[in-house]
Amino acid sequence: MDLLQLRNTILSIFFLCCSSVAFSHTPTQLIQDNFSELTDFTIGYYIDRTEQMSFEQIEKQAFQESPNSISLGDSAKTTWAKIELKNTTSNATTVYLHHPYAYHNRGVDLYEVVDGKLTRKRLLDMDDKSTQEWMYRGSAVFDIQLGPNQEKTLFVKSWSFSHQWFSLNLYGENESKRALLGQFTDIALLVGMLLALIVYNFLLFLSSRLKEHLYYSCYLISGGFWIALSYGLLADLFNIYGSMAFKWHLSLVSMPIFLLLFMMDIFETKKKHRIEHWALASILILLMVNFLYGLFDIVNALKIASPLASAMMLVSFSVSISMFIKKHVIARFFLIGHILFLIFSTRALLFYNGKVEFNYLNSHGVGLGIVLEALVLSLIIAYRIRAIKSLKETQTELRLQASTDPLTLLFNRRYFSIAANQELKESQGSLCIAIIDIDHFKQVNDVYGHTAGDKVIIKTADIFRAQAKKQDILARYGGEEFIILMPNTTLDDALTQIENIRTTIENEKMNIGLKHSLSIRISAGISEISPRKIDLDDAINQADKALYNAKNNGRNQTQVYKTNQ
Ligand code: GH3
Ligand code: MG
Ligand code: MG
Repeated sequence: MDLLQLRNTILSIFFLCCSSVAFSHTPTQLIQDNFSELTDFTIGYYIDRTEQMSFEQIEKQAFQESPNSISLGDSAKTTWAKIELKNTTSNATTVYLHHPYAYHNRGVDLYEVVDGKLTRKRLLDMDDKSTQEWMYRGSAVFDIQLGPNQEKTLFVKSWSFSHQWFSLNLYGENESKRALLGQFTDIALLVGMLLALIVYNFLLFLSSRLKEHLYYSCYLISGGFWIALSYGLLADLFNIYGSMAFKWHLSLVSMPIFLLLFMMDIFETKKKHRIEHWALASILILLMVNFLYGLFDIVNALKIASPLASAMMLVSFSVSISMFIKKHVIARFFLIGHILFLIFSTRALLFYNGKVEFNYLNSHGVGLGIVLEALVLSLIIAYRIRAIKSLKETQTELRLQASTDPLTLLFNRRYFSIAANQELKESQGSLCIAIIDIDHFKQVNDVYGHTAGDKVIIKTADIFRAQAKKQDILARYGGEEFIILMPNTTLDDALTQIENIRTTIENEKMNIGLKHSLSIRISAGISEISPRKIDLDDAINQADKALYNAKNNGRNQTQVYKTNQ
């Protein structure tokens, strides 16, 4: 035997010893007077990889020592736990064995053995209502009767759909009740938060019709539903478990579908970022196909869902980075959200496969990841609402600027045409239109300068504004020309109104600076628009002709258009 062989032999003996330690006798848990609870103790476990061994065969197997909370991955679908109990009191007593994650199992069986004899057997099948008398709000709860000083061995078969993870706890009567109360408060809180976001975004969708709110709502619905389902809230509230519950895990497949649709919509990838769009669209199609497949074969669809989800994360992460590089402000929210989800779901993945310890953060990793990501993504919604609001304000400002004359702040000619045509369409009664021009305005410019001319135009506009009726549409039509459309006004009334304005202007002493003030005069032409003859340009031409007459007739007057002109 050479040295290497010797070393190997020593090593194998060492490992044999180690494993024999691991497979040693399961320590006995002592039940003493006033027993309250055992939530951290040693059990034995044995994985039946054949998934069909009888209890008699199981009994003979060597059980490996383990903490009472354990995660073993998806190759341990049928796992047996062994608990040794001894009542150290001289009174008969009852303890309660809890399997709090029973809701996501196919079944939980309990065998009780005293002095090597099977004394009681309870088989709990999650698909068979008649066997579920020990199911209570998602947990399996078995009463264990112990006679005075009696020793009992419990064998618990935990039979899962995919990944094997469970806890086994022992309680006295009061503690048992307490443990069952409020065991899903944390999950209810998480789901409640998502529910508030769902309702809010759905209302936002109804009011704005923006698809991003709908996609985000559906993403939250899928995520919230999956959390409620897989962490027992639905089992607690509606007794949903077994194969029926397992099917609903399809919500885990629909969640990334809506997240991708949300991303495509927010980044407008179809219109603006073709490469990113095709990357997202390709993975979206795969997810949709898997979703449809899952309607028929959920077990295999969920198997495909894991690598597909990883691929989806990779693609959406890359797209977020690409958008970040392109300086898209929203991309950082996706990056932060994705990173949080990735950290937590990686921990969960390791947990489900038995690679990290059984603790709250690990066992609830996916749910926490979903909620954190959803909250970060809700900042996108807030950001978008703010951006849309400021865009609307800018648009209103631009529209105002586009319709207003900057000197007089009256409407401009362009806006006048739109508003007047609209009025003509809607108006039933008689309308009149007047064009007004300042007399000899060139002289004002020539004598007092262009700035003084501007002041005159502004003052004249102010008088028009003050004298016009509320319903009138008043605009600066050209340099020192103004136009007024007077709805529901007869020719006589229009004439009176314009003459009033003309005399007001005539009597006004306009201050044009440097202690100068001057009076100006105006000429006006009015035309009546009969409701049937509604061409605005014709009406303006007629008023223009009347104005021409006023000018020719000596100015400082108002003329009315007559048909024979
Ligand atoms: P008329 O009585 O025949 O109307 O004589 P007029 O001198 O007023 O003649 P017209 O209406 O053709 O002249 C308009 C002048 O108004 C020409 C132009 O220099 C001046 N003008 C046009 N827009 C402005 C402006 O915004 N500011 C100033 N200061 N002058 C303007
Ligand atoms: Mg003019
Ligand atoms: Mg003029």
